[in-house]
Amino acid sequence: MELEFRSGVDVELVKSSAADSDVIFAARVSTQGERTREVAEDTEKAISGLINFLMRERHGSPFEHSVMTFYVKAPIFVWREHMRHRIASYNEESGRYRVLEPCFYVPDEDRKLVQIGKAGAYTFELGTPEQHKITDDSFREACTQAYQQYEKMLAAGVAREVARGVLPVTTYSSAYVTMNARAMMNFLSLRRSAPDSHFPSYPQREIELVAEKYEDAWAKLMPITHSAFVANGRVAP
Ligand SMILES: Cc1cc2nc3c(=O)[nH]c(=O)nc-3n(C[C@H](O)[C@H](O)[C@H](O)COP(=O)(O)OP(=O)(O)OC[C@H]3O[C@@H](n4cnc5c(N)ncnc54)[C@H](O)[C@@H]3O)c2cc1C
Repeated sequence: MELEFRSGVDVELVKSSAADSDVIFAARVSTQGERTREVAEDTEKAISGLINFLMRERHGSPFEHSVMTFYVKAPIFVWREHMRHRIASYNEESGRYRVLEPCFYVPDEDRKLVQIGKAGAYTFELGTPEQHKITDDSFREACTQAYQQYEKMLAAGVAREVARGVLPVTTYSSAYVTMNARAMMNFLSLRRSAPDSHFPSYPQREIELVAEKYEDAWAKLMPITHSAFVANGRVAP
C-alpha cells in the first residue's frame, strides 16, 4: 500500500449544542428558578456582563450546559496527550478491528526542531537545513520499514492487534471527541501557548495545532464566552 506523509491535523466540528445563551439560562436558575430558557429579552450588554462575572469569579458549572463533538485526525503521540484530558468523551478507531492506514506525521519545514535550555526553562529554534533533512529522512525510512513489517505479519495471518505493535506513534489515528465549554477552556488553557494567559503553558506544537482549531470553532459558537475567557487571562473557571 502507498504510504502517506503529512504534517497537519484535521479537526471538524461534527455537531454541537453550544451558545452563549446556554450559560445564561443555567446561571439564572440560581436567582429565578426554572423556566428561564428564554433569554431573548436580555441585552447583549447584560449577557456579556453576567458571563464575564461568572468567568471572573470562577463559577464554572454554568459553562457545562453545552456540548460540542469534533472529528479529529492526529498522530498517536498527540492522542496520548489528548486523552489525559479526562473531562471529554472519546471514541477512537480500533487497531484491533481494522487495518490501520499507512498515514504518518512528519514535521514540516516550519516545525521548530531544536530545544535550547533545560526542562522547565527552554525555547525551541528552527534548526538547520541538515537537521530538517535528517529528520525528514529518518521519519520516512522508519515508517516505511515499520509498515512493511506490519503488512508482512498481516499477510502471514498474524492478528491486527499483535501486528500493530510495530507501528510508530507518528501513525495517524482518528476519534470523535465530545466536550462542554468548561472542558474546552481547561483544554485551551493548557494546550495553547498564549502570551496573554495568566498561567502560560508550553504545549507540544502538534497538540497546539488541535487546540487552535478547537478554539476557532468554539469562538464562533460562543463568542461572548470566548471573549470573557480571553479577557480573564485564559483561566478555565
Ligand atoms: C505543558 C504540559 C506538560 C505536561 N507534562 C506531563 C508529563 O510530563 N507527564 C504527565 O504524566 N502528564 C503531563 N501533562 C499532562 C497533565 O498533567 C494533565 O494530565 C493534562 O494536562 C490534563 O489536565 P487536567 O487533569 O486538568 O484535565 P482533565 O482530566 O480534563 O480534568 C479537568 C479538571 O477536572 C478536575 N479533575 C479531573 N479528574 C480529577 C481527579 N481525579 N481528581 C481531582 N480533580 C480532577 C481537575 O480540576 C482538572 O483540572 C502535561 C500537560 C501539559 C499541558
